[in-house]
Formats: sequence, structure tokens, C-alpha cells
Amino acid sequence: MKTENMEYKVFNYVNGQRVENNGKTEYRVFNPAFGKQIASVFDTGAEDVNKAVDYAYDAFLKWSKIPITDRIKYLFRLENLMRENADELAKMVTIEHGKTFKEAQGEVLRAIENVEAACSSTYNIMGKNNKNISAGIDEELIRVPMGVFAAITPFNFPIMVAFWFIPYAIGLGNTIIVKPSEKTPLTMQKTLDLFDKAGFPPGVISVVNGAVDTVNALLNNDKIVGVSFVGSTGAAKYIVSTASAKHKRSQAGASAKNYELVMPDADPEKVVPHLISSFYGNAGERCLAGSVLVTLPENHDKIVNLFKKQAQKLILGYGLDENVTLGPLIRSEHRERVLGYIDSGISEGAKLILDGRTFDAGKYRDGFFLGPSIFDDASTDMKIIREEIFGPVASVIEAKDFDDAIEIINKSQYGNASTIFTNSGTYAERFTEEVQAGNIGVNIGVAAPIAFYPFAGYKNSFFGDLHAQGGPDHVMFFTDSKVIIKRW
Ligand code: NAD
Repeated sequence: MKTENMEYKVFNYVNGQRVENNGKTEYRVFNPAFGKQIASVFDTGAEDVNKAVDYAYDAFLKWSKIPITDRIKYLFRLENLMRENADELAKMVTIEHGKTFKEAQGEVLRAIENVEAACSSTYNIMGKNNKNISAGIDEELIRVPMGVFAAITPFNFPIMVAFWFIPYAIGLGNTIIVKPSEKTPLTMQKTLDLFDKAGFPPGVISVVNGAVDTVNALLNNDKIVGVSFVGSTGAAKYIVSTASAKHKRSQAGASAKNYELVMPDADPEKVVPHLISSFYGNAGERCLAGSVLVTLPENHDKIVNLFKKQAQKLILGYGLDENVTLGPLIRSEHRERVLGYIDSGISEGAKLILDGRTFDAGKYRDGFFLGPSIFDDASTDMKIIREEIFGPVASVIEAKDFDDAIEIINKSQYGNASTIFTNSGTYAERFTEEVQAGNIGVNIGVAAPIAFYPFAGYKNSFFGDLHAQGGPDHVMFFTDSKVIIKRW
């Protein structure tokens, strides 16, 4: 057994059973705060993926016939179990991802809220009808479950993102196969016990581990009717185009570059704590993280000085230590990538006013840490502005005025989120209307939609038509319409 010396084991979950996976390609799972390998993941080959899909399909035939009111009872039980075990789940998130325990608790809570939102599937799936559409003829529209769905998730939210899809897919009568990130598969392992305890029939929820080959096996399987993806833009484009060519529906949340505009009327003392948690929370590995701070000439110096002062106070370390406020990056390779962006910013002429490379993680020196950095005098032609960095690096652009700020923001190839800090209703309204991003914050550092709203995203931050999470989109995505025309 290849995994016997590791602290944790990673199993596939197929037909309600934990199955050892002995694929050929190994992916190492780390505790990034210690730089230490704690588990191994192996790719699940096509033969095993196909078996899992066959079981999930058989389960679908029965599960879809269970009355929705009974299906929802499984979700209620799962919600209770997740609440009871929330801190255990959050601890695992911190161990495998590195974010602070408080951030991990927030992530688990959002996962739970998605289960709660999916409990209203009973209402959401209601159809429409017209009596006497023609003489003596009635017509109705019902929404029906479709089959086996797949969810392919990223490393930065090991549990929350999977729950953007699992409860909705199954609540509406489908079955689902989750392929967690090969970098953070362990929290999903913890949920397997909860799926067992909630009593889900075998095959309703399955987990297959691995990376690209496993994803391709899912995409190549004709019984998979739809794919939900969250991750980087390159992979999102590939998933959506491949799924579409294979006649599957798909939805793909992708990379981001989020701008936060601070207007001169906003109180810097109130704004800066929000900026700190937005730019440096989750070590900047968040698709809603602030990345570019836009100021105006009237407030630039004041905001930047205070932002720098508070960023300097961040404490690097293991997220389970209470005083720690900035966790590590996911891998040393990723830290190298972020360091490359710092080099690039310097060589392109941005002014590095806070250098994250000088921060010390003390006893966690072997971890993949990088302190907070701030570039001032950045401009839209620089690589640090054009590309997603996904680390604790903030870049500041001083706009000439509000109109110039909007123009700067809308130049971005991405459109996941954007925020304005202001007391002016006029500017807030204009910002909301004119900025091309799917999630808009007004005096909110991280514009994260609550579970029963869709998680929107524009431009290269989203591919497909129907968004993740609750709201009307999920019913459209996880069910098909059937029209029945009746004469008696
Ligand atoms: P990633 O694209 O490397 O991996 C995401 C998932 O796709 C993983 O399960 C991985 O195994 C699989 N994968 C990777 N490359 C693939 C390929 N070529 N073909 C098939 N499957 C592939 O992303 P990541 O590094 O895990 O996550 C970080 C990225 O996710 C960032 O760009 C971030 O902005 C984005 N993200 C977006 C949202 C959103 O809602 N828009 C939310 C969270 C994260």
C-alpha cells in the first residue's frame, strides 16, 4: 500500500464504500505551514472512473424516484452533522490548505449554508401550468432531474466549493461525483463519514481523486450529463469546450483580478481593516481577494500609508495558532510563482513599498510562507495588473478621478468582483452599474454572495451560462424542462 507511511489516507468513495486507489501518478499533499507531506493522492484511471459513474447512474435511477420531500430529509441530516462537526472540518481545511482557523470556519459555514439553501429545492423545482391553452387542452412545464453530474473543484476552498454543487444536484434528484483538488483532498475525506451517517443511499454522492487524467475520464464518460468546474481560466476554457463538444452542460468559475476603489469621502480608519482582510485573507488565494487598490489623488497617500502600517502587523504562521493572521501559500512552487510577480513588478517600474520577502515565519520557517507586499505606482500595462497573482501582493493604482477609476477597472480581462468604498449613493450607484464584474461590493471588502444567491462572474472569470450556488440558476442547471400537453 503506497500510502501506509503517511499521516492521512485518501480513498475514493464509490457506491458508498471507501475504495483504495492505486493509480500510477502520485500527487503529494502537504501541510503547507510545515512544508511537510502528509498524504498522497493517486490518479483514478478511466476504468475506475467509469465504474464509479455506473454505480452513480444506477443510484440515480432509484434516487430520482424518491419523493423530493424525502430526499430533502437527507440534506437536513447532513446539515446537522456538518454543524456538529464544523470545527473538525475547519481544522482539516487549515491543515491541508494553510488558511487561519477562523477563515476555515467561515469556509465551512458557507458550505453548510449551501446545504440549507438546497433544502428549498422542494419549492424551487415547482413547475408552471396553463389551463385551456387551447379548447380542452392543458399544458404544463415540469423540471426533471437529469442523471449523473460531476464537480471538479480547486485547492483554495477544499470544502465550500464542492458544496456549491453537491446539495443542489442531489436535492433536485441527480447523483454527483466530486473530483477534489489533488492538492487539498483531505477535507472531503472527512465529509465521507458524514455522508455515511446521513444515510445517503450508495452512489448518490461519490468522490474520485486525481488530477487531469481523472477529469478527462469524467469528461469522456457519456453517462455524465453535466460538469461543474471551479479553477483557473485555462482549465475552465478546456472543461467547458470539451463538455460542450461531448453534449454535456457545463458551468465554470475561473481566475480573477479584483479591484477595490476607495473614494476620498470614505473614512480610511474604517476602510483599511476591510482592505487587509480582502487582500491578505486566505493568503490572497481567494477568487474574491482584493488585488488592485485604486485610489484618487485626494486620498492616495493617507490610504496607502495606513494600509501599509496595518499590513506590517500581520503575523505569519500556522493557522491553528490563535494569534496567526496570515497563513502560508499552498506550495513552494506557487510561492516561487508569486515571487516571480514581485520581480516582475520591480522590473516594470512599480514601487515596492512593502516587501513580503522580508517577513519571517519564525518557527514555521519550513512552511511555504510569504509576507504581505504592496506595490505603489502600478499601471494597467504591467504584468502584476494584467494577470492573476493569487498571493499576498497588493498593487496600488492612483486614478485621476472616478471616471478614470472605472476605465482602469474595466480594462481587466477578468470580472469576478469589485468593490467601492464611499458614502456617496451617486458614486455607489454608478459603480454598481458601470463596473463589469459579477459580484459588486459597496463598503464590503470581500463581495461573496450568500448561499441562496448565484456566484456570478464576468469575462475570463466565468464560462457557461448558469452560475454556482443557490438562486434560480441552480435549478436550471441541475434539471431539464419537460412540457406536457394534455387532453382528456
Ligand atoms: P486549477 O485550475 O489548477 O485546478 C482546479 C481543478 O481542475 C483541480 O481539481 C484540478 O485537478 C483540475 N485541473 C487542473 N488543470 C486541469 C486541466 N488542464 N484539465 C482538467 N482538469 C484540470 O485551479 P487551482 O489552482 O486549484 O485553483 C485556483 C484557481 O481557481 C484560481 O485561478 C482562482 O481564481 C480560481 N477560483 C475561482 C473561483 C470562482 O468562483 N471564480 C473560486 C475559487 C477559485
